[in-house]
Amino acid sequence: MSRLALARAAYDAVPLYDPKRTPVALDLTDNTNLWGIPPHAERTLREMPTAAVTRYPTLYAAELKAELAQMLGVTPDMIVTGCGSDDILDSAMRAFGEVGDMVVAPEPSFAMIPIFARMNDLQYTGAVELPSQQPDLDALLAARPKILYLCSPNNPTGTLVARATIERALAEAPGVVFIDEAYAEFAGASSVDLLAQSDRLLIIRTMSKAYGLAGLRVGYAVGAPALVEAVEKSRGPYKLNALAERAALAALRDDRAWVDEHVALAIQLRERLSDALRERGLAPLASAANFVCVPVPNCVAVGQALRARGVAARPFPGLPHVGDTLRISVGPWDMLEQFLTAFDAAMQEVNGGVAA
Ligand SMILES: *Cc1c(COP(=O)(O)O)cnc(C)c1O
Repeated sequence: MSRLALARAAYDAVPLYDPKRTPVALDLTDNTNLWGIPPHAERTLREMPTAAVTRYPTLYAAELKAELAQMLGVTPDMIVTGCGSDDILDSAMRAFGEVGDMVVAPEPSFAMIPIFARMNDLQYTGAVELPSQQPDLDALLAARPKILYLCSPNNPTGTLVARATIERALAEAPGVVFIDEAYAEFAGASSVDLLAQSDRLLIIRTMSKAYGLAGLRVGYAVGAPALVEAVEKSRGPYKLNALAERAALAALRDDRAWVDEHVALAIQLRERLSDALRERGLAPLASAANFVCVPVPNCVAVGQALRARGVAARPFPGLPHVGDTLRISVGPWDMLEQFLTAFDAAMQEVNGGVAA
């Protein structure tokens, strides 16, 4: 028997996720916190006791769950943590999806959703978003999904999903509704209050973006206790490592002002970057996140020309309704100035100038 034949059949259709990204001097591709790590979290990491490394972490990060619950105004039994929100999404698909069940998501949206669906032997159907960049809820519901995924603000467009769309999804979806709020801090909007009305809503959040802890892998979900318990069983014990738990606790307890300040800065500079792109004759999409998605002809070639200049932004070729786009993470203005300089040269090289 070949090695491959020994693996689950579902894995035949799953390529190893590896976008082969080469390091670059200025990386604006992953929407992490480009201002760095919050100060108290950093000090906690520097002063980490030996036992945090030599001993096992806590089973289910109870202290962190309590802190997150307090921040969100829910009870701790409504929180589950994970090794990044990727781990939560993966565990939750396994918790709610029987083999062959349907997962649906708008397109474009978070690229990992079809991958996690296939990894868990679930079916996946995407429904092209409406020209307004809102999810096509009729199409999503028509697939009778066990899991309906929405991302608000959406990655990669930055669009906030309309409240009415989320309310209708909760009222009409036959299964569980996932709302990925990886960028909610930048939107100043959340669906957490809707948990009071719905026991099949799972809101997935992360400390990788606004909180600057992507390398530590801290994600969490909020939902009705019965949902959360199922995800926690599927997730299993010891998933959040001890260093991550302690640094995340420090960030939540002592770095809230730092996070708020840098979220406000990201919002301000997101608008400044959008203005700079408009001055170049481009039409960036309205963003509620810490990145800007801008239609740019020949985005893959422009991305390569940017890389040749030591700058990376992520190309999304052929998005529905808007065509080729670049997604640019927002960071300190000097980084965005560097981006704009490289971008002007790349656009000159590829498109013979900036205006479309
Ligand atoms: C970055 C991102 C995540 C993953 O976050 P981790 O917590 O680092 O795994 C999840 N969802 C969306 C939409 C993201 O952009």
